[in-house]
Amino acid sequence: MIKIRNLQKSFGDKVILKNIDLDVAEGETVAIIGPSGSGKSTTLRCINLLERPDQGELTIGKNTYDFNKLTKHQITEIRRTTAMVFQNFSLYENKTALQNITLPLIKAKGYEKHEAEKTALEYLDKVGLKDWKDHYPAQLSGGQQQRVGIARALALKPEVILFDEPTSALDPERVQGVLEIIKEISKERITSVIVTHELEFALDVADKVVFIADGEVVEKGTAKEVLKSPKDERTIKFLGHFA
Ligand code: ATP
Ligand code: MG
Repeated sequence: MIKIRNLQKSFGDKVILKNIDLDVAEGETVAIIGPSGSGKSTTLRCINLLERPDQGELTIGKNTYDFNKLTKHQITEIRRTTAMVFQNFSLYENKTALQNITLPLIKAKGYEKHEAEKTALEYLDKVGLKDWKDHYPAQLSGGQQQRVGIARALALKPEVILFDEPTSALDPERVQGVLEIIKEISKERITSVIVTHELEFALDVADKVVFIADGEVVEKGTAKEVLKSPKDERTIKFLGHFA
């Protein structure tokens, strides 16, 4: 279970996140939608401390953290219990698909090499890439690279997986395959937060949808409520014909 209260973040004197609250129940998939520049990526990046929030409170499972008073140990703990899947994949270019997955297992989780390889192969298999284990990112399609990115996140067995527009850098013909894998993850009730512009996908897969605009949560509810019966002017305008 993930709970965020009063998350605030500025860059310089520009307030980016005003007061974000977010609740993700155990096993739930929550989609975050909203206009470009509204603070969706910043929200995710604050959850796993790729950005340092200015204020707020985060609960992951039984642990609650005050962003203002994080100890070194807590920072490591938060990073270890959250995993991110990036828009641009963020794989190590000079490492094979297998090594991209084993490295964080060895570094962040303290696995032995053979143990890490066994786990990595299991997850490469899960995303249909076992035969590609020795390929470097440049030898993989965008869709395959993203599947490695997803396998890497899954292998860490985090409390929550954060997806930041996982398909927006892909060629149109690669999008569906990656969305299918995310749908599988959602069906397995792995707690996840996914920033996406794929509204049809969000309607199909997400338990809840949160609409963010100008650094604020404008509307939230079940996927059907928010995507098909939006109430706020800004949500209605954003969704246009979709709703
Ligand atoms: P998109 O849909 O285009 O990905 P987004 O909702 O993810 O947009 P963010 O990336 O969270 O938006 O950015 C929100 C605002 O914060 C933008 O105005 C952006 O320019 C600004 N911003 C993000 N990161 C930084 C940074 N490191 N330094 C300064 N400003 C930043
Ligand atoms: Mg973004």
